[in-house]
Amino acid sequence: MAAWEGGDEGGGCKVCIASPSVVKGEGTGEGKERDSGGANPCAKQNMEERGSPDGDPARNLEQGPEGPETPIQVVLRVRPMSAAELRRGEQSVLHCSGTRTLQVSPPGGGPDVAFRFGAVLDGARTQEDVFRACGVRRLGDLALRGFSCTVFAFGQTGSGKTYTLTGPPPQGEGVPVPPSLAGITQRTFAWLLDRVQHLGAPVTLHASYLEIYNEQVRDLLSLGAPRPLPVRWNKTRGFYVEHLRVVEFGSLGALMELLQMGLSRRRSSAHTMNQASSRSHALLTIYISHQTQMPPVDPGEPPAGGKLCFVDLAGSEKVAATGSRGELVIEANSINRSLLALGHCISLLLDPQRKQNHIPFRDSKLTKLLADSLGGRGVTLMVACVSPSAQCLPETLSTLRYASRAQRITTRPQAPKSPVAKPPQHLETELLQLQEENHRLRSQLGQMDPRASGLIGARVSWAQRNLYGMLQEFMLENERLRKEKSQLQSSRDLAQDEQRILAQQVHELERRLLSACYLHQPGPGPAPPCPCVMVPPPPCHALPPLCPCPCCHLCPLCQAPLAHWACPRRELHLPQLLASWQPLFWALRIHGPDMVPALMEFLVSREDITRATHCPQKK
Ligand code: ADP
Ligand code: MG
Repeated sequence: MAAWEGGDEGGGCKVCIASPSVVKGEGTGEGKERDSGGANPCAKQNMEERGSPDGDPARNLEQGPEGPETPIQVVLRVRPMSAAELRRGEQSVLHCSGTRTLQVSPPGGGPDVAFRFGAVLDGARTQEDVFRACGVRRLGDLALRGFSCTVFAFGQTGSGKTYTLTGPPPQGEGVPVPPSLAGITQRTFAWLLDRVQHLGAPVTLHASYLEIYNEQVRDLLSLGAPRPLPVRWNKTRGFYVEHLRVVEFGSLGALMELLQMGLSRRRSSAHTMNQASSRSHALLTIYISHQTQMPPVDPGEPPAGGKLCFVDLAGSEKVAATGSRGELVIEANSINRSLLALGHCISLLLDPQRKQNHIPFRDSKLTKLLADSLGGRGVTLMVACVSPSAQCLPETLSTLRYASRAQRITTRPQAPKSPVAKPPQHLETELLQLQEENHRLRSQLGQMDPRASGLIGARVSWAQRNLYGMLQEFMLENERLRKEKSQLQSSRDLAQDEQRILAQQVHELERRLLSACYLHQPGPGPAPPCPCVMVPPPPCHALPPLCPCPCCHLCPLCQAPLAHWACPRRELHLPQLLASWQPLFWALRIHGPDMVPALMEFLVSREDITRATHCPQKK
């Protein structure tokens, strides 16, 4: 990755730091004050690099496009005067004023005309400056979130479109572009793959590369010789190219190879204005699909998810100016026709009544394939390229007007409604929480019921194929485990209650038995104290009394009557009780242990009577 990071002059988007100013001028984007943080992609980038709250990559991922109606972002790149132009003594008529305004000074001394864009990058800007300032990283983030994003370069032939997107033409077969001259495309590839790795998002990446040459679509990645492919339309996919080869790649190196392959197969020719003039429009698309997404139904269909498309348009050209002959004239006419169709669509899209209007996207293959980027659900960045030479002024003015108008076109970006629309990070957190709960429940259940520990297993492998399936699976399983756990808990509680009641009954019986044995002890002496006073209270009866006279209380758990020792006024009861028991003591002395059952019955009835007598509440 480091190979692509050279050439950064300070690491910030300096061109957009200036505060917004009002510029009067031609075109439609001028004369208006624009919010630097809203529609301006570079301002966003600046905030990101200055470490503002927006600098948090996770938060940036949360940010959507500017709103339901998102304008096409337009940045302008002015190439430097070429050696040939300087040799011919041509003058530069373009001057950057500030970071977002371009002044055009017509050679005859006419009034200056100003144009305003998201960013204006003059000939001194490096390839890295352009990459950082143009806002393509924002598009990359949106593509990762499932949006369909397009970067397209347009302008006159020889104005630097191909250079801006992919660098200078290769110096030989298989010779890659030097890293410092690599264009937006290669830098975005490196950035995107780095981003994917950094986010740890399980994504699958695919690429396709096609050109539209003389109104025919040709696959630049086809295994055999490129043959014309049909452009079709359906409701879900919109316009698409049938049988286009979509190649999966896993590394930056592999992607660069695909790019090289396409670049070397793309049609280009030499004419007076450009030694390596592209004779076709080229569309290189990266498809980003999250592994949880459903695979496409049709095997030829690219995977669902976000995409980032780089469009290098062939330049408009005046056949007379380029000195084209024969095949070059046919190519030029075809290029101009499709660019005219594009211009026509842009004009109609600017119409406020456009919802009622028919946009003739079907007029050319180019407009068909750009329909989504221009007026549909995509997010679009336009890099307008111009030459500073006075000789090119009419074409330059036309490009500038075109670009100014394009700034007013809005799209309605929409991420697919499939599961990927949900941020993967959020899903993963949810999944982790459910997994944790699942483990906890399983171990709790395992402690209570050993049979439960051998649950599930086979279905998890199925669920792993699909994150949503897995979530659902865990939720159902957790629900079932929760129910099972609560059933086991309630039966355990019932058993414990029963055990407690039995223990209390045993205690009570022991207490009474002890009391009876005590009374049965032979020998003269003073009347013994009530055995209840001596016997330690059974644990159940240690509960607090419910009324001021506890001798009539029932134990709230076992419902057994509480003994007299529990009464705070038991000293008052005792003589009275002992006096009433006197005949019994004598009976025990005379009859011995045979008297015990009768004595116990007596004690119970005695307690009932005492309760009836002493309890103020029952009176
Ligand atoms: P286009 O694609 O618009 O027809 P190219 O990108 O092929 O134009 O550029 C035409 C020529 O100008 C090429 O030789 C290219 O290397 C050169 N060129 C374009 N832009 C720049 C630039 N910013 N810096 C240096 N050379 C440039
Ligand atoms: Mg080109």
